[in-house]
Amino acid sequence: MNYFSTRGGEAVSSAKAIVEGLAPDGGLYTMAAEAIPHMDIDALKELDYYALAAKIVSALLPDFSEAEAHELVKLAYSGKFSSPLLAPVADTGEDMFLELFRGPTSAFKDMALCLLPYLMKESARKCGQDDDILILTATSGDTGKAAMEGFRDVPGIKIIVFYPDSGVSAVQKQQMVSQEGKNVKVCAVIGNFDDAQSGVKRIFESAPQVPGVSLSSANSINIGRLVPQVVYYFSAYFAAVRYGRIKMGEKLNFSVPTGNFGDILAGYIADCMGLPVGRLICASNENNVLTDFINTGVYDRRRDFHKTISPSMDILISSNLERLLYLMSGDSELVASLMSQLKAEGHYQVPAELLEKIQAKFSAYCCDDAQTKESIRAVWDKQHYLCDTHTAVAWKAAQDFGRDKGPCVILSTASPYKFPAAVMEALGLDCAGDEYDMMEKLEQISAVPMPENLRGLKERKVLHNDLLAPEAMPDYVFGKMKEAKW
Ligand SMILES: *Cc1c(COP(=O)(O)O)cnc(C)c1O
Repeated sequence: MNYFSTRGGEAVSSAKAIVEGLAPDGGLYTMAAEAIPHMDIDALKELDYYALAAKIVSALLPDFSEAEAHELVKLAYSGKFSSPLLAPVADTGEDMFLELFRGPTSAFKDMALCLLPYLMKESARKCGQDDDILILTATSGDTGKAAMEGFRDVPGIKIIVFYPDSGVSAVQKQQMVSQEGKNVKVCAVIGNFDDAQSGVKRIFESAPQVPGVSLSSANSINIGRLVPQVVYYFSAYFAAVRYGRIKMGEKLNFSVPTGNFGDILAGYIADCMGLPVGRLICASNENNVLTDFINTGVYDRRRDFHKTISPSMDILISSNLERLLYLMSGDSELVASLMSQLKAEGHYQVPAELLEKIQAKFSAYCCDDAQTKESIRAVWDKQHYLCDTHTAVAWKAAQDFGRDKGPCVILSTASPYKFPAAVMEALGLDCAGDEYDMMEKLEQISAVPMPENLRGLKERKVLHNDLLAPEAMPDYVFGKMKEAKW
């Protein structure tokens, strides 16, 4: 199975797609829908997460044999998760929550970013590229930390993360500036997330040349980040079977808190691989550009940007949607023209048949911050399950979709301890002190253990204090590219 840019052009191998990240025409590398391999789900149901991941990763990335994938998956995940199942499903008796936050940084990005470094290094080797790889990432909070944790001390790879000086929470900042590892650098950028992101894009465009070093990216435009996410749809399905919620072969719905459309797209790929996925419920916060798109076929980013209590979903350009349009239409010319219209005019509308196809699989709902908090409270009061703000948005969408429409797994993408202020407020508790005080208080009250990686965070030594204006980013990166040892 080969990969193609969503906007046309030549086939490339899965390894090349991972090394390059973004296609040269600006499109995203994607497989053709009809080439997606069909899995025999009965043969997968007894496997542990590692063996299951090996089968799925090698099926979707044919440059990797199953044995090779198994090795990499073990290296990527072993000893780093707080559950032996890696991504357990919590069944409260009422709802099922797929806990994707048991990894080293307590957000679901870990599921992909633990494995991506290994896939990238091996892919580079398979492509005969023996340069060192320098990963550049701009982050609004969760991605940067998860990427550094994934790439730390991986030989042959270095990573620089840029975060907006005034745009991340105290917990997120402290998680990043205390990052250990000989190959990581974290740098604050004066400005907001867009300033940091544009700065990184400019560096890629100007492509600074240093012999022996190539640049790459760790954000969700890389197919190597998407593939590892397909696995947990399968493992969650088998968990629902074990819990007696469904029988093998019956459909299962999934409600997914969505930003860049990567997570939910992985669910669609699982569906294409033969997993009996019912409906995929796309849950958004007040930045509801996807809700409108799925309900009307019109994508329109010309709207106010809202800063919400589910910040990892505060996004108006949902890049992986481009992959869905390609998978469902098979028409790269159409995708290229829609994307150029989006860039030039800020909006596009898909043809009626394509909208019909999308609506046959996806439903979409959104809620505001007040409803998010009410949902956290309702889940806690009725089910004694403590969920974070992003998970709460997905729970609310599942309610709006209808509880009578069959069993549904709610994807839980972050630990509630990453957003203690909003969670405390939702529960009607006193929010005195800083975020660290609130984390401790939340633990006392809820008796839900705080993730070890967040414990003692406040006291952790600050190892990174670089601060730059956006204009200074290229020189900073160029300088770091030339230093053999950091
Ligand atoms: C990134 C993120 C999301 C959104 O995932 P996408 O793949 O971008 O749709 C949801 N919740 C949390 C906590 C995240 O970090």
